[in-house]
Amino acid sequence: MLLDSLNRPARDLRISVTDRCNFRCTYCMPFETYEWIEKGEILSFEEIARLARIFIPLGVEKIRLTGGEPLLRRDLERLVEQLSSLPGLQDISLTTNGSLLAEKAAALRSAGLRRLNVSVDTLDPAKFKQMTGRGDLARVLNGLFTAKSLGFDPIKINAVIERGVNDDEILDLVEFARTNGFAIRFIEYMDVGNANNWQTSKMVSKREILDIIRSRYPLQLKGRGHGSAPAVDYALPDGEADLGVIASVTEPFCFSCTRVRITADGKLVTCLFSERGHDLKALLRGGAGDDEISRVICSVWMRREDRYSEQRLEAMQSDGGYKPKDRKKLEMISLGG
Ligand code: SAM
Repeated sequence: MLLDSLNRPARDLRISVTDRCNFRCTYCMPFETYEWIEKGEILSFEEIARLARIFIPLGVEKIRLTGGEPLLRRDLERLVEQLSSLPGLQDISLTTNGSLLAEKAAALRSAGLRRLNVSVDTLDPAKFKQMTGRGDLARVLNGLFTAKSLGFDPIKINAVIERGVNDDEILDLVEFARTNGFAIRFIEYMDVGNANNWQTSKMVSKREILDIIRSRYPLQLKGRGHGSAPAVDYALPDGEADLGVIASVTEPFCFSCTRVRITADGKLVTCLFSERGHDLKALLRGGAGDDEISRVICSVWMRREDRYSEQRLEAMQSDGGYKPKDRKKLEMISLGG
């Protein structure tokens, strides 16, 4: 099996299908304009499916489609269909802001998609608009419930918690998930990219999030799914909802990170906090055979020694402190969440 320099396999492939997004989330990509990837540089569905086929024998079991906003990519269901038929792949999922989900859910389901992550950070329409720059909460909720009525399962709500912005809604979000049968993942605000002007003080820690939830619900620790999932999961007493916290800042999990990413323009990225990727598109378009592409992927992965979040915590705990601007990181919008 393919292992990196810290003995981590490449099990989860996250594919960004576009860097475009119709939201401008303050914590992700607040800029109105950005140096978007040119259309001709974006991988075709056939190129993406070819890469997926090459990755599976190397150990990839799961694929998550992401972006930018993946539902902005026209006919995304065609890609889902191509990926669903790949032998050896155990799971396909999609992370979306939900704004186009009501229109797209039926086609995605027919194409073979069963699992969804939908980002909902607040249940207050005005705050939703403020946090997303442009989003309409009613549309997103309509998408969520349409997907539920079509049988998507699980549907996980992703909520990034930012101090002074939506930390007063943690219990409301749990209640919303619990009563409507959604799973929920709270995400510590991360210093991904540089556009969001991240500061430690804006981050609400896993411990604080759990303390708030425990003030109303006793939680039982379940642990990290498959030992390598980003979220640590907890059971609520009635067993109705599945709840987790992704604590990349205060409890980093680099030691078990099995995620490999491909940007919309075909760069292989080995860490969410990477400065750059390795160009696979040039190989795809330059006539390289599958074996050659596979060899390049293996050599990149075998050299992988990323443990950014662990180093960030070490720096945060040191005398010098952590300076988020010291490293120029790829923006989340281009490398996918
Ligand atoms: N547009 C899609 C969406 O909104 O889900 C997919 C891409 S988005 C970059 C993927 C996930 O990353 C979302 O759940 C989003 O909330 C999360 N995210 C973006 N910036 C983040 C940050 N600075 N800290 C923590 N999570 C972040």
